[in-house]
Amino acid sequence: MLEIDEHRGIVRVEPLANMGQISRSLISRGWTLPVVPELDSLTVGGLIMGFGVETSSHKYGLFQHICEAFEIVTAEGKLLKCTPSENPDLFYQIPWSHGTLGFLVAAELKIIPVKKYVRLHYRPVYTLDSMVSVFEHTSRDTKNNDFVEGLVYGCDRAVIMVGNFVDAVGPGSLNAIGRWYKPWFYKHVQTYLERREPGVEYVPVRDYYHRHTRGYFWAMEEIIPFGNHPIFRALLGWAVPPRIELLKYTETQTTQRLREKFHVIQDMLMPIRHLKQSIEYFDAHFRLYPLWLSPMAIKDNGGQRGFVHPFRTEDGLVDEMYVDIGAYGTPGKKGFDNAVALPLLGKFVIEHQGYQALYARTFMSREGFRMMFDHAGYDLLRERLPYCRQAFDEVYDKVSSKGRGSPVEMRRMEKAG
Ligand SMILES: Cc1cc2nc3c(=O)[nH]c(=O)nc-3n(C[C@H](O)[C@H](O)[C@H](O)COP(=O)(O)OP(=O)(O)OC[C@H]3O[C@@H](n4cnc5c(N)ncnc54)[C@H](O)[C@@H]3O)c2cc1C
Repeated sequence: MLEIDEHRGIVRVEPLANMGQISRSLISRGWTLPVVPELDSLTVGGLIMGFGVETSSHKYGLFQHICEAFEIVTAEGKLLKCTPSENPDLFYQIPWSHGTLGFLVAAELKIIPVKKYVRLHYRPVYTLDSMVSVFEHTSRDTKNNDFVEGLVYGCDRAVIMVGNFVDAVGPGSLNAIGRWYKPWFYKHVQTYLERREPGVEYVPVRDYYHRHTRGYFWAMEEIIPFGNHPIFRALLGWAVPPRIELLKYTETQTTQRLREKFHVIQDMLMPIRHLKQSIEYFDAHFRLYPLWLSPMAIKDNGGQRGFVHPFRTEDGLVDEMYVDIGAYGTPGKKGFDNAVALPLLGKFVIEHQGYQALYARTFMSREGFRMMFDHAGYDLLRERLPYCRQAFDEVYDKVSSKGRGSPVEMRRMEKAG
């Protein structure tokens, strides 16, 4: 269900509406969400209760920042509308709460006019310093750059992309990257690195929004190593990507154990000023490439409460600009083990005022988790809302490996100390 109010510039949706459905429906009517998280299957409910980001987030913030209103049903069965002026404490505390304050039943999201294409400029870089400075400079230039993305192929090489909405195809080629026979996007981007020269393409806007869907960024290559081959594409390209639920259903105990030990899926939201240290950290402790870079503003909202806040310097200055560093795959570092690497990573993120996306596995202690995410407003609300504490677990107990107590992981963590 989707109702557009063009006059107010908002769309009202139910929480199970997903990004594929919304982008299809809005774009055909000349509109788009300002932030369209990549994968078709991500839902409005999940993106609000968890988190969502896209390469336009340097301008518009996280998915939660394009929300104008929530309707939730609380543990006592009350329907509450929450906006910045009506139940504001709840409005700012719902994002990241993972359904532990109530059930979301509807949301109002901002919409903006859309254009037909994204003009995409690819710029290869060959040192860590140029990678960091080009990425930071383009991310902070929110007036001139509608989209900014980096794909890092090694500690000293990356392709930084800048996109802008345009109405027509200009000099450069048209590339409908979403077609079933097209190469995975990250493979296509890599060709600019090999050619050692920048380039421009015009990508139909919906193809741009969902450019990583077919390859699940690069995760699909581990699942179907021959998935980019023309013969596979000709015969079965239409069937990709398979549903994550199906992959989990077909997993055996052994592959689950191997995945838990060696496989990494993590998104770290780091202050952009710590981008260089973060890439160096990943190189030293994971050696896992490609890495995904998506700039994102964590909005201050006049210092409102909520789980996440922008970076504050010792002088009290606020810097909203962050970067999502996405690491997906099997690290190349010798002797790598999640039970050792992930607690250290949590420590690194806390020390640098960053946040970890909660869909990923976290081995943080409850104290560490509370250090990373501000629980002040959340604790007050859980006290105040009738039956909330009896009905819903805390976020930590819902999302963390310790809270969930995966027996395999717990044993290995105990052994690893
Ligand atoms: C394979 C994979 C790829 C990803 N890719 C991206 C990406 O490209 N861009 C990006 O921004 N993020 C990405 N993410 C992160 C993703 O955005 C978050 O994990 C998001 O929370 C998932 O949304 P979902 O619709 O799958 O929600 P779910 O995982 O189903 O739900 C997330 C949480 O929200 C709660 N919840 C959901 N709906 C409601 C509701 N109506 N009321 C109360 N609670 C609710 C659930 O109980 C759960 O705790 C990815 C995650 C995975 C696993």
